[in-house]
Amino acid sequence: MGFEYAPAPESRSIVDIKASYGLFLDGEFVDGRGSSFKTVNPATEETLAEIAEASDADVDLAVRAARRAFRGWSRMSGKERAKYLFRIARIIQERGRELAVLESIDNGKPIKESRDVDVPIVAAHFFYYAGWADKLEHAGLGANPQPLGVAGQVIPWNFPLLMLAWKVAPALACGNTVVLKPAETTPLTALLFAEICQQADLPPGVVNIVTGAGGTGQALVSHPDVDKVAFTGSTEVGKAIARAVAGTDKKVTLELGGKAANIVFDDAPMDQAIEGIVGGIFFNQGHVCCAGSRLLVQESVADEVLARLKRRMSTLRVGDPLDKNTDIGAINSREQLERIRELCEIGEAEGAERWAPACDLPSSGFWFPPTLFTGVAQAHRIAREEVFGPVLSVLTFRTPAEAVEKANNTPYGLSAGVWTEKGSRILHMASQLRAGVVWANTFNKFDPASPFGGYKESGYGREGGRQGLAAYLKGAEA
Ligand code: NAD
Repeated sequence: MGFEYAPAPESRSIVDIKASYGLFLDGEFVDGRGSSFKTVNPATEETLAEIAEASDADVDLAVRAARRAFRGWSRMSGKERAKYLFRIARIIQERGRELAVLESIDNGKPIKESRDVDVPIVAAHFFYYAGWADKLEHAGLGANPQPLGVAGQVIPWNFPLLMLAWKVAPALACGNTVVLKPAETTPLTALLFAEICQQADLPPGVVNIVTGAGGTGQALVSHPDVDKVAFTGSTEVGKAIARAVAGTDKKVTLELGGKAANIVFDDAPMDQAIEGIVGGIFFNQGHVCCAGSRLLVQESVADEVLARLKRRMSTLRVGDPLDKNTDIGAINSREQLERIRELCEIGEAEGAERWAPACDLPSSGFWFPPTLFTGVAQAHRIAREEVFGPVLSVLTFRTPAEAVEKANNTPYGLSAGVWTEKGSRILHMASQLRAGVVWANTFNKFDPASPFGGYKESGYGREGGRQGLAAYLKGAEA
């Protein structure tokens, strides 16, 4: 028996979305020289704003502005740079509700996630790296660490503001200047961040924001005066970027896709494990590179886990991202919805069994119910490819060795989860799993102090923590 919930919508009156936005170059908003595109609210399909599409010439202006600003910014003492970063962090906290509402409107994620997860971690990243700015020589990365220069940063749509923070905060702390390109479906919080840079009196040109699609990203990463390329996105585009910068002396970090195993042993604390499975795959509509999209459950408890999981999934509320009761918001775009649908149809055609709870989906906007597949074989495409949606593939195992074998049987290696009462088993599994992050009896926990990054086709380099500084300093290896 489910509960009835009255809607509890967060007011959107706190955000002021302009009809159109230009580019943020050299501390000012300016008109782009290229064309423009629209950003829409994925929950309603309403057009939110017209966004400038930065041309090659605009990208060049942005890189030049960043180069000019580099002189002063890199010579400023770490203590002075820290003041700006602390100021930005505090403004993010002060304007937290505005940022959260805007993120939910442009991205489709539930307000309880943007408010309680994204924005607090964004502020925490700026605070954390502000703390490093005057202590770089104590980071174990050389006696006199030097910044690289101009960083070209390209980010995806699933955590727009959080991915910006992961990239901008360490770059600035180390004395670099940046040109950042947000994803084409979610540019609004990056543009609000540009206003925050103005409010913080950040020197012009230290942060530049160029909006646009793949072409703008390509112009940025291949610009000859960019010293460092930082990319988060799909493995396919990551490979194209690696090819574009091959043969140059640009330093590169790539944070790419994932197909994480979430492994539940028969002695797992069952209530927590069910919550961890749900949070692992349905958080942020499953638009999470490190999502626990493959559930590996020990055969002896598989029936129990599935029965409980289905019961829990039946209580998830899908709908208005601004409703504080919502667990699963809108899929970010029509293209992504099509991709999720297609992979699920392929899953059924390949012989896996599909299940989703009954759920009323809104009539406009992009929606997909929480879904699971049982009877999944390792060769099935839903077990191998990143669905990047609220879709869980369930496989079983008998022994720890079989769990390790199946978990590692993927071209990716970003994250994994282990659920068991036994500490020794946690340590053993963590040493065997080829994944950048291994969570034990929890999942999808992020902290600015811990490094994040992948093995194999999940990319290279680390973001976060002391290791995250190495990506923005000359000659440093994490
Ligand atoms: P995407 O690769 O299509 O796009 C990412 C960004 O790259 C966008 O800003 C896009 O405009 C830009 N881009 C596209 N083509 C480009 C090119 N040729 N050169 C330069 N830039 C280009 O990915 P997406 O669909 O936006 O994001 C989803 C993907 O991101 C998933 O695969 C997910 O796993 C991955 N992701 C990884 C992490 C991580 O930390 N490893 C975090 C979040 C998302």
